Amino acid sequence: MTIKGPIDPSRLGMSLIHEHFLVDFIGADKIGTSNWNLDEVTEKVMPYLAEIKKLGVKSVFECTPDFLGRDIALLKILAQKSGLNIVTNTGYYGAVNNKYLPKWAFTYTAEQLADRWIREFEEGIDSSNVRPGFIKTGVDAGKTLSGLHRKLLQAAALTHLKTGLTICSHTGLASAAFEEIEILQSMGVHPQAFVWVHAQGENNKALHTKAARMGTWVSLDGIGWGGFENYADSIDLMKANGVLNRLLISHDAGWYKPGEPNGGDFKGYTNIFKELMPLLKKRGFTETDFEQILVKNPAEAFTVRVRAA
Ligand SMILES: [Zn+2]
Repeated sequence: MTIKGPIDPSRLGMSLIHEHFLVDFIGADKIGTSNWNLDEVTEKVMPYLAEIKKLGVKSVFECTPDFLGRDIALLKILAQKSGLNIVTNTGYYGAVNNKYLPKWAFTYTAEQLADRWIREFEEGIDSSNVRPGFIKTGVDAGKTLSGLHRKLLQAAALTHLKTGLTICSHTGLASAAFEEIEILQSMGVHPQAFVWVHAQGENNKALHTKAARMGTWVSLDGIGWGGFENYADSIDLMKANGVLNRLLISHDAGWYKPGEPNGGDFKGYTNIFKELMPLLKKRGFTETDFEQILVKNPAEAFTVRVRAA
C-alpha cells in the first residue's frame, strides 16, 4: 500500500524498508506541520531521493510515525516528484519514555487505539486519500515491557488482524522482541507479521536466527550510521544459518530537522550500495542474495495480508 494507492508486491522492486525524510523530536504536545515549510523540506530531501533512484531503488518505506513528523502532504509531494513508491504507516511510538504518544494513548484501551489505526487504513489518514502500508510502533526495552507498551502491541495485533498490515516495532534488544512476539502470538498473530526493528541493537547474533526461525522479520536497519563489518558479520551468520529469507536491511537515515538552519545535516541513503555490498561481495554474496534481501524479502514482508498464529 503506497502513498498513491495499492500496487502489486512484485512492483515494489528494490526497497529501502526503514528511512526518514523528516523527523521532529519536539514531543507529541508541541508537534505540528506548521513547524516546517513544505517547499524547503522538499528541496532538501529531493536530491537524496534522486540519488537512490539512480542506484535502482524503486520503493522507500518512510518510518516516521504520527507525532514524530509524519506529514502526508510532504509524502504526497515527494512521491509525485521522485517517482518512487513511498509507503507510510499508522500506529504510535512508545519508545523514549512515551514522549511521542498523544495524551489519549495513556487512557484508551487497546481496542480504542486499534479503532483509530484501522480507520486510517479504511478511510485514509487525516481525511486524505492516503492509506498506511504498515503499522509502526515502538517500545522501551527495559527488564520487561511496561503495561502501556504491551497495550501498544495489543493494539497493533488487533489492527493487523483487521487490516493485514505488517507490524514494525522499534525494539532493539532481543528480550523485548521476544516479549512482543509472545504478546502477538497470544492475540493470534503469527511472527511472520512482525518486524523486529533495530535488531542490530542485540549483540547476541544467534538470537537473530532464533527469531528468524520463528518467522520473524529481522531488521538490521542502522546502516546509515556505520559499523559495516558488524552488519556484514550479522548478515553472514544469517546466511550460514539458512535464514537470509527473513532478513531486512535499511539505513534509518535522513532527515530534515525542523528548528535547525535549512533542516541541519542530512544523511543520504547510499551506504548499503557503497559500503556494505562491497564487503558482502568479498564474503561471497551474489546478486541472487542481494535480490533476496532487497527485493524479495521486502515484497514478502510488506504484502498486506493477515498472518494468523
Ligand atoms: Zn527510524
